[in-house]
Amino acid sequence: MPMVKVYWLTCPKCGWRYYVGESLLRIKDFPTVCPKCKHEYLPEQSSTGIEG
Ligand SMILES: [Zn+2]
Repeated sequence: MPMVKVYWLTCPKCGWRYYVGESLLRIKDFPTVCPKCKHEYLPEQSSTGIEG
């Protein structure tokens, strides 16, 4: 089984760290929603950047 590549993001609003699948980041200008505070932002606005 191939490993699914994930990327870690940190919500710029509440600081919650979580991961998303590679497919989400392939779509240009597609926002991610923080699972904790529901803040919507672009992955590149993650306060720790996109950690692969
Ligand atoms: Zn948040």
